[in-house]
Amino acid sequence: MDYQAILDEIYEEIQPELKRGKVADYIPALAEVAQEQFAMTVTLEDGTVYSVGDAKKKFSIQSISKVFTFTLALDIYSTELYKRVGVEPSGNPFNSLVQLEYENGIPRNPFINAGAIAITDSLVSHYKDHYKTLEVIMNFVRELSGNPSLSFDPEVANSEMEYGDRNLSLAHLMKSFGNFENDVTNTVMTYFKHCSITMNTEELSRAFLFLAFAGKDPISGREFITCPKTKRINAVMLTCGHYDASGEFAFHVGLPAKSGVGGGIAAVVPGKMSIAVWSPALNRYGNSHAGTLALEKFTTKTGVSIF
Ligand code: GLU
Repeated sequence: MDYQAILDEIYEEIQPELKRGKVADYIPALAEVAQEQFAMTVTLEDGTVYSVGDAKKKFSIQSISKVFTFTLALDIYSTELYKRVGVEPSGNPFNSLVQLEYENGIPRNPFINAGAIAITDSLVSHYKDHYKTLEVIMNFVRELSGNPSLSFDPEVANSEMEYGDRNLSLAHLMKSFGNFENDVTNTVMTYFKHCSITMNTEELSRAFLFLAFAGKDPISGREFITCPKTKRINAVMLTCGHYDASGEFAFHVGLPAKSGVGGGIAAVVPGKMSIAVWSPALNRYGNSHAGTLALEKFTTKTGVSIF
């Protein structure tokens, strides 16, 4: 299949859509990103890469980082992890306090903020300190992406902390229920730092390839996580990867994927490829407007989806 021709076609068709949606503004440092930008990259099993648009331009991966931390925590804790975090879609906004209250401080899944913060907390407990935890996360993403100099953006992380009352509240609420082990402020800061990792679509697509190949990077041959655990990660991406529009995303796109409020989406086609797309303007659910449409066009034009 001529993937480059398909991406070029999508690029043309998507142009009028770049004016629609709205860049995230609740994190001031993200509100400054220019709206009309688009990039898409497909990476195949043998490392062949197809890209269109600003595929070298870095953006804040935000919630997509939750897939990396979930992978690390699942590898360490296995099924024990589910005592602290569930795997059901929340059907509520990603930062809801109400649901966490009536469900006794156990977040619905690892991709809503409370769940991801609990996962970061579990990593801090395992690695014993914040610095080491961040280093492990960064090195993991560096290795997966093939870019050893990958970093996070302290300006974005600080900006998140400045307006971080709700996320701090989620952590405090979990602590009040006994579902939090470390210092709240430092742990939430570690969470903000991994959310502020900057990557481009080429790096992100490369970094998700192991999830398309049963946990094993087909290029290096390295197994990052077992096949059964990869199944779980992809299942949670499919059911919970797009906030409370996860059902709609599965319906239109038909792939396990995770989005972030920086406008990125990373998706996997099991056994075939990984895809990353970026366009900063979001739809009303907080998912990239043009990115979601581009993925829908891709699965429709190529016929690759899990269904
Ligand atoms: N760091 C962001 C927050 O905690 C993540 C949001 C997202 O991408 O969903 O609000």
